[in-house]
Amino acid sequence: MVNVSFPDGAVREYTRGTTGTTIVDSISKSLAKKTVAMRINGELADLSDPLNEDCAIEFVQRDDEAALELIRHDCAHVLAEAVQELWPDTQVTIGPVIENGFYYDFARDQHFTEQDFEAIEKKMAQIIERGAVFTKEVWDREEAKRVFAAKGEDYKVELIDAIPGDEDLKIYKQGQWFDLCRGPHMRSTKDVGVAFKLTKVAGAYWRGDSNNKMLSRIYGTAWVNPKQLKAYLHMIEEAEKRDHRKLGKELDLFHLQEEAQGSVFWHPKGFNIYNQMESYIRRKVNAAGYKEIKTPQLMDSKLWEKSGHWSKFREDMFVVPDLEFASDAEQLDVAPDSKLMALKPMNCPAHIQVFNQGIKSYRDLPLRFAEFGCCHRNEAHGALHGLMRVRQMTQDDGHVFCREDQITSETEAFCALLDSVYQDLGFTEVKILLATRPDMRAGSDETWDQAEKGLGDALRATGREFEIAEGEGAFYGPKLEFHLKDAIGRSWQCGTLQLDFVLPERLDASYIAEDGSRQRPVMLHRAVLGTLERFIGILIENHAGRMPMWLAPTQVVVATIISDVDPAAMKVVEKLKAAGLRVETDFRNEKINYKVREHSTQKVPAILVLGEREAEEGTVSVRRLGEKGQKVVSVEEAVAALAAEATPPDLK
Ligand SMILES: [Zn+2]
Ligand SMILES: [Zn+2]
Repeated sequence: MVNVSFPDGAVREYTRGTTGTTIVDSISKSLAKKTVAMRINGELADLSDPLNEDCAIEFVQRDDEAALELIRHDCAHVLAEAVQELWPDTQVTIGPVIENGFYYDFARDQHFTEQDFEAIEKKMAQIIERGAVFTKEVWDREEAKRVFAAKGEDYKVELIDAIPGDEDLKIYKQGQWFDLCRGPHMRSTKDVGVAFKLTKVAGAYWRGDSNNKMLSRIYGTAWVNPKQLKAYLHMIEEAEKRDHRKLGKELDLFHLQEEAQGSVFWHPKGFNIYNQMESYIRRKVNAAGYKEIKTPQLMDSKLWEKSGHWSKFREDMFVVPDLEFASDAEQLDVAPDSKLMALKPMNCPAHIQVFNQGIKSYRDLPLRFAEFGCCHRNEAHGALHGLMRVRQMTQDDGHVFCREDQITSETEAFCALLDSVYQDLGFTEVKILLATRPDMRAGSDETWDQAEKGLGDALRATGREFEIAEGEGAFYGPKLEFHLKDAIGRSWQCGTLQLDFVLPERLDASYIAEDGSRQRPVMLHRAVLGTLERFIGILIENHAGRMPMWLAPTQVVVATIISDVDPAAMKVVEKLKAAGLRVETDFRNEKINYKVREHSTQKVPAILVLGEREAEEGTVSVRRLGEKGQKVVSVEEAVAALAAEATPPDLK
């Protein structure tokens, strides 16, 4: 007999080898109907697995969060079966679950196109409807290779060879079709349900190696129910409409070009947003007790060697030889022993150089440095993506040097700063992750215990909820990640706080403690926005280009109906400017509706229109972006209201 414990604390005895299916059936019919898998001692498993020793089990229902991964995995198997049923000459390779869905890579002479999707989806629906039960078998290695080779599945043979010798070779069958797979799976293909859709097709090299054959990768998405699927597809559609690269062009904010891959050319309007954001963050960090500094772009490789970047980060750095012009030639002379410099990929080592000037005492701590640090990282061209992934970035960076007993209070202070900024910027949903010690790490276990506890305590002390990201900390210390949810439900990691015990050691930072001894400060690396480039990209997409008034490059356009009122309109413009507003005029000889339409397309938040009557009465007709109709108010009233709305949130 085996003892099986349940989440409610109950422990029951079963005959050894009893399956989860038998147990759930014996508990309740309605529970059995919804249950698609189970966890044995926390690990997901097939419901049909036998229980051979004492364990804790937990049933997974189809609408549980955990089932989503199973739905997607099963759906990938269904996709593969459908493709092979339709095109038997196709070889199957791998088909993992990814964020929001799955893909499967197929080897076929003729690549798939989106035109094939309708037929594949139809076939998938049939397979799901057939409801073949997933069954698991453990095969002999050589036998498995023989079977797959006979089917012409050369990729599977290669995959089998790559599986460690001590691992069981598992085959999952669904009716006649079977696949090499680690599992687990749900009960039958029917559990996949109807909420799936193929989304795109792309080329992908076998094993990601461009020397190998190009395979055809079909992507799909799958959800618990059609409502979720619909919401996801809507989100994708919205995201396309809001794409910051598209809006950046339409609103004349910035551009990127081949000659400066991954570095942004900011246009006047885009740079206006950039400057507003920078000024805003500068005011916030000043108020939070930071001292702003500016450190060099180019620094000697010797410093990067000391900091450890040279050995760990070298490939991502732009290295520049320190050249001198030869006296008589117009030619660069690279001496073989010339020094190597590198563009900074991070600001941290430079901040320690500033800290190290002069003797610091415990009374000087915490010392908080801030920098709008322009960094360069040699990201692969293929990974670059508009403002979201660049090679030249400006971090709203900062480093806090403090004593170990100040970690908790500094973490609390930083969280308060983040809350206030995110609230100002309209992000109300923030998810916090505490990333803990990775396998490869520096520092003793006691130090890690203390650091992880310090971060956790600070979050708990302020009543913040957080999740643990096991093993995802940096090698030098644990970190907090702050993920923002945008207007269409996407999550963006922006803020970070990383504890570091290593860099102060490597770059010999120290302070004199109360007892006169020399101590290492703890270094907290932190950023609120992350980088200005990416954050502006997020803001553009979050607002679909309709920036809040204080960030809008042009806040007001003053437009006239007839040229007779131009002088009166100029007076309005002067008043708006005097109130600090960014104003443009539109006195062109065009129909007013045409003018309004054009400025609305440019997402200008307010348009003030003057005709004969307004000029006579000292009023303006106010049209607001996204609102129907217009309101006639006195010039003074309009200016005051707009100026109030245009005040940055921290100055209100
Ligand atoms: Zn599988
Ligand atoms: Zn740093």
